[in-house]
Amino acid sequence: MFTHFQTQGFFLKKENKGEANQLLTIFTEDFGKIKILGRAIRKITSKLRPSADLFYLSEIEFIQGKNYKTLTDAFVIEKFKNLRKNPEKIIIVYKMTDAVETLCGEGQRDTKIWRLLFDGLQYLNNLNNCKTKIFYYFFLWNFFSLLGYKPELYSCCVCQRKLLPETFWFLPCEGGIVCWRCLKNFSAEQKEKTEEITVDAVKILRLLLKQDWKVLKLLKISVEDLKNVEKISFSYFKFLKEI
Ligand SMILES: [Zn+2]
Repeated sequence: MFTHFQTQGFFLKKENKGEANQLLTIFTEDFGKIKILGRAIRKITSKLRPSADLFYLSEIEFIQGKNYKTLTDAFVIEKFKNLRKNPEKIIIVYKMTDAVETLCGEGQRDTKIWRLLFDGLQYLNNLNNCKTKIFYYFFLWNFFSLLGYKPELYSCCVCQRKLLPETFWFLPCEGGIVCWRCLKNFSAEQKEKTEEITVDAVKILRLLLKQDWKVLKLLKISVEDLKNVEKISFSYFKFLKEI
């Protein structure tokens, strides 16, 4: 006899397997990120198909076999309709789920990441279009922080001095900021691993990391600062993917 497991989960990724099967990556409330086989799920007649689409939140039931888990039932709870009909939001949700898919280990329950994803998708679903990019960075940096990679944004990661409002550099491998005094002593190779970060971009990241969704409504951000945040985020994410 197989044991049946029940939980809620977000469908993050679907990969076709064989003629009609799919391997589904789901972030669940009780088991973290898991991969489940959807047998014959691509057939029109599949009863699982209507509740197992990308980015749906569904109640799911699965069994654990010797080698893999198999989806046995699914019931959709939330389809995030506003999100699905908006191309800009779809891009953001792909980026969010890519971060979770890339950086979360399998089978590790994490209620805080579950909550961030849950609140994040609801928030994005109802969000005004012009705030989607900064929303993504709110999600991403709080996600890094929950994974244990919260950056140090208040003191230099080399000399530990409190940062004064001057020019800084972000050092992904240290998860923090380097002051100009310390940067002077860096080799050319070390310097190459840093990214210049503006005082305002540091302030924005500090605010985002307060994990308060209300911040997003109040935050006004210039195109230049958004570009700088984008560059730092890309560089830190790239580093985290490689470790
Ligand atoms: Zn320093």
